[in-house]
Amino acid sequence: MSGVGKGVATASIGALLKARGLKVTAIKVDPYLNVDPGTMNPIEHGEVFVTTDGLETDQDLGNYERFLDEDLGHLSCMTSGSVYLSVIMRERSLGYGGKTVEAVPHIPLEIIGRIRAAADLADADVTLVEVGGTVGEYQNIMFLEACRMMHLEAPKDVLVVLVSYLPVPNSIGEMKTKPTQYAVRTLNGVGLQPNMIICRSTHTIDAPRKRKLSVNCNVATEDVIAAPDVGSIYEVPAFFRKEHVDERIVMKLGLRTRPPRMKPWKDLLTRIGKSRKLVRIGVVGKYFSTGDFVLTDSYLSVLEAIKHAAWFVGRKPEIVWLNSEDFESRPATLAKTLRSLDGVIIPGGFGTRGIEGKLAAIKYVREKSIPYLGLCYGMQLATVEAARNLLGWKDANTTEIAPKTKHPVIHLMDEQEGKMKDKDYGGTMRLGSYPCVLKKGSLAHRLYGRVTISERHRHRYEANPIFREELEKAGLVVSGVSPDGKLAEIVEIQKHPFFVASQFHPEFLTRPFHPHPLFLGFMKAAVKRGRR
Ligand code: GLN
Repeated sequence: MSGVGKGVATASIGALLKARGLKVTAIKVDPYLNVDPGTMNPIEHGEVFVTTDGLETDQDLGNYERFLDEDLGHLSCMTSGSVYLSVIMRERSLGYGGKTVEAVPHIPLEIIGRIRAAADLADADVTLVEVGGTVGEYQNIMFLEACRMMHLEAPKDVLVVLVSYLPVPNSIGEMKTKPTQYAVRTLNGVGLQPNMIICRSTHTIDAPRKRKLSVNCNVATEDVIAAPDVGSIYEVPAFFRKEHVDERIVMKLGLRTRPPRMKPWKDLLTRIGKSRKLVRIGVVGKYFSTGDFVLTDSYLSVLEAIKHAAWFVGRKPEIVWLNSEDFESRPATLAKTLRSLDGVIIPGGFGTRGIEGKLAAIKYVREKSIPYLGLCYGMQLATVEAARNLLGWKDANTTEIAPKTKHPVIHLMDEQEGKMKDKDYGGTMRLGSYPCVLKKGSLAHRLYGRVTISERHRHRYEANPIFREELEKAGLVVSGVSPDGKLAEIVEIQKHPFFVASQFHPEFLTRPFHPHPLFLGFMKAAVKRGRR
């Protein structure tokens, strides 16, 4: 089921194999029909992660990149929609030479072709393919078919790992293996036998239950792997190591490797363990509730970026999720809440809901010298706030919200006009990595320690250059621009402990072993404020 930890399990296996010196790459398969998640509402999907080469992908790609410490690209993600689209387009251009095109084998063959292409591109020894969805649902069946066909072709080269959930119902307090037994039966029904079962649960699976699953599911006891909830996802590789996951996998694949070098992971865990003093960071966003539950998944990479930077300065992050709409309906809570924080982040976003609350929060942190980091929309809104309150242009806005404002300080990028008119929304934002040149002597320059950087983007609107001079005079300095000087990529207020906002998404480049310089600078300022 979704949320059970398949992504972290995949990323952790990858990390261990990489630590053994193998070249590893990973692919996420999403069974839905959207061509990519870029057009989906965050309630449906959570965060949209963006790769260097500009693909809008599933948030699991973020975990792969963070665990493997490598950039992945457009071949690392596929959905049923994207696979069907390729097959149908190929058929339309006579790519199948007049033959009948059928779900099987043509869809699985397209999937297999893509897996091989990703493996070749990465020159990988091992390619991990995470199949999303649940065994037995019809949506991912073609991917399981692809798996079966690959296995048939090269049985020794394909391993199937089932990530299953073992409930421990409160009323009986006992771990139940039955759902996993049925999951394996269902897999068997599509011609697949798992070689390993990862047992996700609140608890560690014990020896008798490992034996039970072994006998009932036809796997060795050693291949029934405990995967209880842990304090941090970064503990999982070391935990899997103790369960001999990597050893079993290389043995089964017949790969000879050195033992894994776990020092960076051990150091990371030591760093996390030593980080006991709190740093309080507020994330002012738009939160999505489904029924009685509130989702914070749309800010997953932001959360990881905060953690990486906090651990680096020896602090335990306490994240305070703040709903910007609350600041609109209850303005009195704004000052009280924000005052208690060490730093505030406004992450990316779209549309009108909660905007005035975000603007009020920016005004407060700017005036009260509370460290602020704005990400994409957080930068655009910092520009709107400065125009309204430093320059007195009360109607200043982004044309995303007020298309007719007299002060469109943020406006639609030229290249986007036609796309919006044609309703060409899929994969058409300014996406992926672009270079940015930093202003010498600025805070951004000091934080990065170099003049040219490259960062990942996902936006349609940009700072309107005709207002740049006046905004700079008012104190909102543009400290990073596109190489042609036209596009503002970073703004900062220099008479402030830390007020930096970027048009790009630095959170996509953070890694547990080396936090992102903007988050690190922000965190240091937050820690300083925490000592007040
Ligand atoms: N909505 C804004 C734009 O499209 C910001 C996007 C974002 O924050 N990712 O430009």
